[in-house]
Amino acid sequence: MNDCLFCKIVAKEIPAEIVYETGRALAFRDINPQAPAHVLVITKGHYSDAAALADADDGLADEVLKAAHAVAVMEGVAEEGYRVVFNTGPGAGQTVFHVHAHVLGGRALTWPPG
Ligand code: 5GP
Ligand code: ZN
Repeated sequence: MNDCLFCKIVAKEIPAEIVYETGRALAFRDINPQAPAHVLVITKGHYSDAAALADADDGLADEVLKAAHAVAVMEGVAEEGYRVVFNTGPGAGQTVFHVHAHVLGGRALTWPPG
């Protein structure tokens, strides 16, 4: 996708602070963190949202979730608790249409979310 911000991060055309990488997933710090730990886990290939990821090749969604947990461990928030969020669609607040899991932790997270 020529015009996709996160595809440009995968292609290293836009810099990002990468914290973790697997064969098909990439994790980097959110530019506008909403918690002390706020990392985005994306697929290296372009899928527009979590619904498209759910329909993707076997094991890809699994790889993203495992990467999200690995990031939480690396960020030191796995024991105290963390949140994995896929905003899916404009009504849910999705602004970048390349699937990404927000991994949030390091502070008390309230429920319900806004
Ligand atoms: P969404 O609103 O789609 O669920 O989340 C998009 C996220 O991408 C936001 O939290 C936003 O701060 C983050 N973001 C937007 N542009 C950039 C960027 O250029 N670099 C990084 N690292 N994060 C970005
Ligand atoms: Zn993309």
